[in-house]
Amino acid sequence: MAPLISKLGGEIKPSATLSLKEEVRSLGKEYGFKIINLTVGEPDTGPTEDVLEALLEGGKLHKYGPVQGNPELREILSGVINKEIGVRYDPQDITITVGAKGGLDILMRVLLEPGETVGIMTPFWVTYPESVKMARVIPYFLGSDGGVRPEPEKLRREIEAKNIKVLLYSSPCNPSGVVYTRDELEEIAKIVKEKDIWVISDEIYNKLVFDGKKHESILSIEGMRDNAILVDGPSKRFGVPGWRLGYVAGPSEVIKALTKLQGHVNSGASRPAQYAMRVAYTSQKAKEATDDMRQRYERNRNIFVKGLNEIDGISCIKPEGAFYAFPSIDNFFGSKYEFAGKEYMIETSVDFRNFILRKAQVAGVEGAPFGMDSHIRFSLATGEENIVNALDNINQAMKELHL
Ligand code: PMP
Repeated sequence: MAPLISKLGGEIKPSATLSLKEEVRSLGKEYGFKIINLTVGEPDTGPTEDVLEALLEGGKLHKYGPVQGNPELREILSGVINKEIGVRYDPQDITITVGAKGGLDILMRVLLEPGETVGIMTPFWVTYPESVKMARVIPYFLGSDGGVRPEPEKLRREIEAKNIKVLLYSSPCNPSGVVYTRDELEEIAKIVKEKDIWVISDEIYNKLVFDGKKHESILSIEGMRDNAILVDGPSKRFGVPGWRLGYVAGPSEVIKALTKLQGHVNSGASRPAQYAMRVAYTSQKAKEATDDMRQRYERNRNIFVKGLNEIDGISCIKPEGAFYAFPSIDNFFGSKYEFAGKEYMIETSVDFRNFILRKAQVAGVEGAPFGMDSHIRFSLATGEENIVNALDNINQAMKELHL
C-alpha cells in the first residue's frame, strides 16, 4: 500500500479549458471530424518580429536574475500603469510573476490565513476557485444567482455575511466579456473601503475593450491605493501566453511579501522572456498588432453574437471586451438528440457542450466551471472564417434537437 496523497491533491480540478483542448483533439481523431475549436483562451496570433528577436537575444541571460524581476521592465510597467490607469506605482511596488496565474497563486498565501474566505464575482475564470483552494482558503461565489454584472447592495450583504477578506474579479471578464463601468467600480470601491477588505483586480484583457470604450480600473479610484491589487500581464495583449509572464502591482507591504514568497516558489520569472517583454511594452509594431487583434475580435464578436441571438432559444449578452461569447443555453435542458445510433438528453452545460461538439463539430467550454451551468463559452480568438462556419454548423445542429 502506498502512502496517501493530500485531500487537496486528490480533489483539485484540472483546468477545464486546458484539459478540453486534449479531449477535442482525441474526439476529432476518433470520428475523423474537423472540429472548429472555440475553447481556447489565447490569441490566435503571436508576438511581432522585434519582440521575438529580443527573446532570442535574451537567451544570453542564463543565470538567476532578480526575484522581483528585471528593473528596467518594472520601470517601463510603472509608466504603462501610469499612462493607462492614471496612477503611479513605483517600480519597487511591481513584481514580475510566472504568468498572471503565478501571481494570483502567491497572492492568496500573502493575503489570507487558511480557512479565511475569498469572494469571487460570478461568473469567474475557472482557475480562481482552485487557486483559492490551493491556499487552503475558502472560495465564496458572489452574485451566483444568474446576473453577470455586480449588484452593489447584494454584494455588500454577501461580503458582510460571509466575512469576506478578499474580493476577486476580472474586468474585462472571462467568460462573460462584461467590462465594469466607472460607476460600478466606484460602488465596489465604496464597499471595499467600508469593509476594509482587499480587492484583486485582474485586468489581463484590458487592451481588448470594444466599441471605442476605455478600460476603467478600480486602482484609479480615490482611496483604493491601500486596498487594491492589480494583476496583469502580456499573455493576451501580445499573444505570448506560453512565455509565462505576468505582474502584480499593489501596496508596498503586499509586493514585498509576494516577492519573498516568489523567491522560494520559483526564484522569479524567465529572464529571456522578461527581456523581450521590455521590447513588447515599448514597441510601436507590437502596439499596432494589439490594435489589429482587438479589431478582428470585435468583428468576430459582432458576427457571432448576432448569429447566436438569431437562434431560437439562445440568448447572448454582447461582450464589451475580452474574446469570449457566453450565451445561455438552459432553454435546451430536457431536449434530446441522436448520435452514432444512441439517444442523448441535454441536462447540463456539459451535455450541451457535447451536443455541439458531436453534432456541430464546434468545441466550446461548458459554463459550469465558470460558475454558470446555464451557459457555454465560445472563444472568438480565431479567424473570421471559423466564426462564420461555426455559426452555420451550430444552426444546422440545432435543427436536430427534439423533445
Ligand atoms: N486571468 C484571466 C481572467 C485569464 O483568462 C487568464 C488566462 N486564461 C489568466 C488570468 C492567466 O494569464 P497568464 O497566462 O498570464 O497566467
